[in-house]
Amino acid sequence: MVQLTDQEIASKADIQPIENIAVKAGIPKEALELYGKYKAKIDINQISGNEKDAKVVLVSAMNPTPAGEGKSTCTVGLSDAFNQLGKNVMVALREPSLGPVMGIKGGATGGGLAQVLPMEEINLHFNGDLHAITTANNALSAFIDNHIHQGNELNIDPRRVTWKRVLDMNDRALRQIVVGLGGPARGVPREDGFDITVASEIMAVLCLADDIIDLKNKIGEIVFGYTYDKTPVTVKELKVEGAVALLLKEAVKPNLVQTMEGTPALIHGGPFANIAHGCNSLIATNTARKLADIVVTECGFGSDLGGEKFMNIKARKGGFQPDAIVLVATVRALKMNGGVKKENLSEENTEAVISGIVNLEKHIENARKFGVEPVVALNDFVTDSDNEREAVLSWCREKGVRAALTKVWADGGRGGIDLAEAVLEVLESEQNFKHLYEDTLPVKEKIERIVTEVYGGEGVNFSDQAKRQIKEIEKNGWGDYPVCMAKSQYSLSDNPSKLGRPEGFTVTVREVIPKTGAGFVVALTGDIMTMPGLPKVPSAVHMDIDADGNSKGLF
Ligand code: ADP
Repeated sequence: MVQLTDQEIASKADIQPIENIAVKAGIPKEALELYGKYKAKIDINQISGNEKDAKVVLVSAMNPTPAGEGKSTCTVGLSDAFNQLGKNVMVALREPSLGPVMGIKGGATGGGLAQVLPMEEINLHFNGDLHAITTANNALSAFIDNHIHQGNELNIDPRRVTWKRVLDMNDRALRQIVVGLGGPARGVPREDGFDITVASEIMAVLCLADDIIDLKNKIGEIVFGYTYDKTPVTVKELKVEGAVALLLKEAVKPNLVQTMEGTPALIHGGPFANIAHGCNSLIATNTARKLADIVVTECGFGSDLGGEKFMNIKARKGGFQPDAIVLVATVRALKMNGGVKKENLSEENTEAVISGIVNLEKHIENARKFGVEPVVALNDFVTDSDNEREAVLSWCREKGVRAALTKVWADGGRGGIDLAEAVLEVLESEQNFKHLYEDTLPVKEKIERIVTEVYGGEGVNFSDQAKRQIKEIEKNGWGDYPVCMAKSQYSLSDNPSKLGRPEGFTVTVREVIPKTGAGFVVALTGDIMTMPGLPKVPSAVHMDIDADGNSKGLF
């Protein structure tokens, strides 16, 4: 049998006019701003209601293989399962970045029969949000360089501008650049560099703001560099927070689309979870919390990355808590964590599944550390054997962990009913959510707590630079911010080759960077880069478009 691609499956799906989806979601006409037939933005000022009553289901995962373990797929499929059970449900997802779309990992619209539509448009330039964020970020760069060129009234040290330009693409050639070359008419030369847009502080701020005014205020608080006497300089001092916010006036509105089964979906904001905080926007989650009884939302990579940051950053700033946590696991990721090489993952190997399960076990423990009971979603692949599936499910039974074989990729919502029922059991019981640390804990101790408690490490090695930066951060009064860890997604440690459940390791923090608009400090660990590179054979080489505008190769 020829296996259809995600894009081919999506192109055969029935798609409803977005107005129908809005009616189903209870979104009033006045709030709907149409972007073509199947997409709309929502004017949140037109949505009334109370966000307090909705239950929030967070979908996280074990440490993944490079192909992804189907977290978006299970998030979409679980919401369709709730929909089939007659629940008033919405799904809230992140927007795809063109970096992974053109690179190796693919988009972020789910897969098989558990996808959001229109898949192609969501994966390519979705309503322009990422371009607006890129432009807002780079406008600020232009304002900074212009200020320095025009006499530098603020006394900005060009060597201490920390604000970087961004691009929504994996482009390693731009990691370090020099701008302003070519003589006095072309500005003041200084070193600069590009990050990928999803790592931009503008993205983080958009995802953590309550509304456009809060967004503008947060942009004003961004420290983009330091003066010659090392005093921080903010966007407010440049007087451009209004202009930067203005560039985001449409991007700040959440996007309404639908799943293949017509469940309303809000897709908004897309920070990566390895180099940023990894959660969709608070605005979208809160809008969904007003409209639905159950909100299913996803955070990036494992509970060590997006999961930890959802709890300690997003939920803290949003003042809410997850009521249940789903941990997506796959037989292939368990095998990889059990020592099997990538090229052998499709061969049956129950022993490796069992030895890799220590990885899943740590993620289960992590969910419980936050006081929320996890449900394991074993995302079923046709290549899995019955022995392998049973090994996982019986282990979960023995350990007293709820688990469900999840077949949403093959069967849509119907394949997620068992999972939905297990999640409902958790939603009906009392959870005791807690953050892992108080705001007031010193920065070093926050990082140490995350490393020892969530990653299972021994301790942290701070570089001399990181130590200096932490001192500055605390001196400047930013020590109470939560920490946004930047770390490899493949391992619980900062070394991507340490799979399973590594022990006795230390994590190296090489830099700690304040993000005063977003209100967190980023700790860069190991070799993690904020501008990824493309692989040897990027997905782009499989893509094409014909004379009628039909595309192919988008997974
Ligand atoms: P993640 O969110 O964990 O990165 P995705 O949900 O985006 O993962 O899925 C990554 C890719 O894996 C997609 O192309 C999707 O179609 C595919 N996939 C997910 N689950 C399955 C499955 N059960 N069987 C086959 N392919 C799957």
